[in-house]
Amino acid sequence: MNDETRYGNDLQVLVVGGGIAGLTCAGLLEQRGFSPDIVEKTNRYGGLGYALGLWPAGSNILKGLGAYEAFQAHADPMHTYTLLSDSGKKLHSYDLSGLAVEYGKPHLIWRPRLIDVLGETVTDENIRMGTTVTDIDQHDDVVDVTFTDGTEGTYDLVVGADGIHSTVREQVFGDVSLTYQGMTSWAFWVDEELLDRGVIKEHWGDGRFAGLYPTDDGLACFLPWLHRKGCPIPSPSGKDVFGSVSRIWAGSFRTC
Ligand SMILES: Cc1cc2nc3c(=O)[nH]c(=O)nc-3n(C[C@H](O)[C@H](O)[C@H](O)COP(=O)(O)OP(=O)(O)OC[C@H]3O[C@@H](n4cnc5c(N)ncnc54)[C@H](O)[C@@H]3O)c2cc1C
Repeated sequence: MNDETRYGNDLQVLVVGGGIAGLTCAGLLEQRGFSPDIVEKTNRYGGLGYALGLWPAGSNILKGLGAYEAFQAHADPMHTYTLLSDSGKKLHSYDLSGLAVEYGKPHLIWRPRLIDVLGETVTDENIRMGTTVTDIDQHDDVVDVTFTDGTEGTYDLVVGADGIHSTVREQVFGDVSLTYQGMTSWAFWVDEELLDRGVIKEHWGDGRFAGLYPTDDGLACFLPWLHRKGCPIPSPSGKDVFGSVSRIWAGSFRTC
């Protein structure tokens, strides 16, 4: 440790990535008296994102952050989880109310709304949008960081919260290759006619799955498909995906 070592709330923290993990981490740090810098690659958050299900283990963190009420104002509580076969036959419906009494309600929320809620827990001036890191140079006591806007900073701690294709991970650990699991997935919004408030519906088939997730902002569908020899998957054009989904709900879905 040298004379410049900082302690307590003087600790300089950089959070790279202002997504769900980054904003949560920064909000919790601010709550504890730190003033972390956050850099977020995108210029603005916009409407990009999907429906996210938060079970109590996750949403309890929002209680700790003091953001649970704001979260509830935008999230849809779930009371039922219905499991169906891929031909649409109902296999079982689980009533989630007992779980809700014991642990809290599961919710679904549109990702941009969750980002808004988490963003409120962080001081605006601490977030630099449209910025990322170009160099991370770790020394014994501190980390020197160079940013894309040409500025530099010295930090005691750098948090890599920049998602699955993390630049921080690459800078620190080199090329860590991702492992392809053999699935292609489509996520899209479907006709609200199918919307059943508070009910998650999942169609489980052989090598494929279709989940329906109602949110305040519409009904999201998630459709993963396992690649297998001799078993064609739908081409990634929207038309074919919708065709496959409608065949599932029409009950004429064939496994191969
Ligand atoms: C279709 C789908 C459905 C999902 N459903 C659920 C669900 O129901 N429940 C659930 O808990 N999870 C769900 N997940 C997983 C969940 O979305 C992720 O676990 C979560 O988003 C990870 O958060 P994160 O902050 O680590 O990364 P991200 O949410 O990916 O955020 C990373 C942030 O870093 C920014 N960034 C990227 N690179 C850089 C860089 N170099 N410099 C600066 N900023 C950068 C990005 O712009 C982004 O804002 C789902 C994921 C998908 C794809």
